Amino acid sequence: MENRVIIVGGGPAGLMAANVLEKHHIPYLILEKNDQLAKKLLLTGGKRCNVTNERTVSGFIDDLNMPHRKFLYHALSSFGPKEIKQFFADRGLNLLLEEGYKYFPETHKSLSVLEALLQGIDQTKILYHSAVRSIKRSDDGYLVTTKNDSYHARYVIVATGSNAYPTTGSSGDGIDFAEHLGIKTIPFTPAETYLLSTHVKQQFKHLQGVSIQKTNLRIPGIKTSFHGDLLFTHQGLSGPVVLHASEHVYPLLKEGPVTIKISLTQIDINQYDDILLKMLNENQTIHHFLEVFTTKRLATTLYDQLHFKKNHLKELSKKELGDMKTWLYEFPIDIDSMPTIEHAFVNRGGIEIKELDQNSMEVKTLEGLYFIGEVTDLQGPIGGYNLTIAFSTGHLAGQAITKKYNTG
Ligand SMILES: Cc1cc2nc3c(=O)[nH]c(=O)nc-3n(C[C@H](O)[C@H](O)[C@H](O)COP(=O)(O)OP(=O)(O)OC[C@H]3O[C@@H](n4cnc5c(N)ncnc54)[C@H](O)[C@@H]3O)c2cc1C
Repeated sequence: MENRVIIVGGGPAGLMAANVLEKHHIPYLILEKNDQLAKKLLLTGGKRCNVTNERTVSGFIDDLNMPHRKFLYHALSSFGPKEIKQFFADRGLNLLLEEGYKYFPETHKSLSVLEALLQGIDQTKILYHSAVRSIKRSDDGYLVTTKNDSYHARYVIVATGSNAYPTTGSSGDGIDFAEHLGIKTIPFTPAETYLLSTHVKQQFKHLQGVSIQKTNLRIPGIKTSFHGDLLFTHQGLSGPVVLHASEHVYPLLKEGPVTIKISLTQIDINQYDDILLKMLNENQTIHHFLEVFTTKRLATTLYDQLHFKKNHLKELSKKELGDMKTWLYEFPIDIDSMPTIEHAFVNRGGIEIKELDQNSMEVKTLEGLYFIGEVTDLQGPIGGYNLTIAFSTGHLAGQAITKKYNTG
């Protein structure tokens, strides 16, 4: 039995784990299926890589959609956004704040992030073209098999990612390894992706490229609403708020189209009646009234959709006034589909969190086996959350193995 660690997958999670092991002189090998490392990392943030964000540990956790979000508390407390920023600064790469909370490398290149990660890794310990086909229990650890070789290891870290963007190498293999070892998994489903809408394509084609800042998005049956910017596209809806809400829309689509509601205005609903009263007294037109609340194009669209065939606010009935308010704050849009898991930026699902120890990322029933990063059912919105999860869980597993290794 080789007393070493095998890391399956050389993405951000696997590379961070390797950094910790290298620092503590623990022998390890990275098996990477591609001819290069971290292909997905290089694509992140429009190739500029939104590495992490400015959130505190509890703020970070609050921002996540997952019901089991608190699982991450330990990982983030020991290596969270603050420590990630310091990790890169120590390797000569400063991260700069954008939009008040997102951190990008000062070079504006994701390649710099990969180069910084590689500074802490012995390149001879990386084996390329080594797609792992199976992981099995052996007498005193695990047998990891690729097409041409088998490797014995006391510890194995699986960092194979999800099924999003499989051309980067993330083809969901970790789920197969887990299932063969009797570990419970949740099928990958799309998260952080666009919403496709025939309704938008047919009726709101003219809105393509129009954005709504700080909208409020509601999904039927979901108590919380989502806030952020939204963009009308040629296929439906995009923008941060849509990406964030998408994973909740996906399961509902199994039953047919889903009508989501979006606000077309940033003006607080409590101010609505006062503005209406003032403009009624001024005998303003409906169109002018709507333009106070939203952009010209959206005001025209809303006016057309309401089919009032009246010009002035004073001509509207009580019901029509009520409809206008509802549609300004809860404009309905039918969503009929979403891109597949392969086209989503991130996937929900993976290794069931109940199977893992939150203090180490080790499988509770299989000593020496760890799952980290997006192969686990841990994911967040856009804004550096997913790379933070990959780095944080990778660091935790590296530390946990170091501790075990040193105590025999
Ligand atoms: C276009 C795009 C933009 C994104 N932008 C951001 C962003 O700006 N900020 C952010 O926080 N998140 C972003 N994300 C999400 C983020 O990239 C992922 O969450 C993150 O890369 C997950 O890291 P990981 O190490 O767990 O898995 P991956 O990055 O998927 O790495 C897995 C690695 O394992 C290898 N592998 C897979 N199977 C095997 C096998 N059988 N044998 C050997 N090797 C294997 C793969 O080749 C790959 O190198 C983005 C995602 C996409 C698709």
